[in-house]
Amino acid sequence: MKLIRFLGAAGEVTGSGYLLTTDNGDTYLVDLGMFQGNPESEDLNFAPLDFDVSSLKAVFLTHAHIDHCGRLPLLFKQGYQGSVYATKPTQDIAHISLLDSAKIAKLEHPQLDVYDKDDVQAVFENTEVVGYGEEFEVGSLKVIYRDAGHILGSASIVISEGDERIVFSGDLGNTPQDLIKPTEYIERASTVVMESTYGDSVHPQEDTDAVLLSEINEVEKTNGVLLIPAFSVERTQELLHIIGHLKSRGVVEAQTPVYVDSPMAIKITEVFKKYPNMYNSELANDEHPFEFEGLKFTKRAYESKAIHEYSGAKVVIAGSGMMSGGRIIHHLHNYLSLPSTRLLIVGYQAEGTLGREIEGGAEYVEVKGENIPVRATITRIHSMSSHADQPRLLHWLKEIDGVKQVFIVHGEEDARAVLTEKIKEQIELSDIVLPLMNEVHEVV
Ligand SMILES: [Zn+2]
Ligand SMILES: [Zn+2]
Repeated sequence: MKLIRFLGAAGEVTGSGYLLTTDNGDTYLVDLGMFQGNPESEDLNFAPLDFDVSSLKAVFLTHAHIDHCGRLPLLFKQGYQGSVYATKPTQDIAHISLLDSAKIAKLEHPQLDVYDKDDVQAVFENTEVVGYGEEFEVGSLKVIYRDAGHILGSASIVISEGDERIVFSGDLGNTPQDLIKPTEYIERASTVVMESTYGDSVHPQEDTDAVLLSEINEVEKTNGVLLIPAFSVERTQELLHIIGHLKSRGVVEAQTPVYVDSPMAIKITEVFKKYPNMYNSELANDEHPFEFEGLKFTKRAYESKAIHEYSGAKVVIAGSGMMSGGRIIHHLHNYLSLPSTRLLIVGYQAEGTLGREIEGGAEYVEVKGENIPVRATITRIHSMSSHADQPRLLHWLKEIDGVKQVFIVHGEEDARAVLTEKIKEQIELSDIVLPLMNEVHEVV
């Protein structure tokens, strides 16, 4: 392997994309995700790709998060006819997320020539499904996917050409996680491209089940509503898994309704049910995971509206996770001003989002154009993360033999700088690179 060009996630978290050039001049792509949160780089999401798409040999996709797969339809829009290699759950989840993203793109950027559902369909149809641990050959490369333990279907990708071996960590999991199998370690690689999202922090130890239990019990006492804004992939299913156990222990009332009020989360939960062979050993023993008394999937708009009519204690899990859109907005509009409401924040709230404002203790917030007083009780769980923290990242790297070169990506500048220092302290490694966007580096 000769060169690697960093198309994104270089000095920031989102926009993952790496273009590899092999010794014989062929090019391959690992991920092609969207930029999120930063208006400057978000402009690139629908811009024509500035590399030669027609000479691209293959695409390797680590997982279905939109910051890793969100720009793949652009490839097909620009004439790419090759394959996208991915695990089966990644293919399924990416299909759902990309259709959603095509729809949103059209609404938000009516003036732009964005990709459409045909381009998304092309991604789906040109996906070659690969299983963990099954080595396959493409051109001069040998490739193997390892379970990254981050979300269902997520992979680290090991690519060899001759004696050279490069590994792309993808996003590494907060292993061991509640639903999926633990992160698989990589035996050997000369070059490592690794994520650093939480390179500067250690996840706190919290008893998530106990927090969730006390939140539900509180609204059961007052006939209030517990709102949980949650991401559709992984987080919603983790919540259902925990609540299912609380119900079967009898510590949450069987009749207390739990609404999953997000069409996307409902679809992703169906995907989870398709792959019990990918569950960890604890979940594999659950006879009916993601099913319990009182659970209601409200797919249609009228079902969603009817939630408001039920006056007893209730739990509503809805997107979006950062309260920046989706059905959670209606519920915030209805319930944020009531003192009996509890709002449980279980995920990261980015700067500039409504979620961040509420998390920061705003007394009034604007919802649907109205100024709403925040009288609900806000609680925060910090430990529910699908990402490895600093000790886990270091441990993952230390397990790899023969490393000569490390590229630190997928992290804000502070996070990757701190991680770099830690690596230098703990591992004898001098060639650590913090690439910037569009830089091209030699692979040693
Ligand atoms: Zn991810
Ligand atoms: Zn990511």
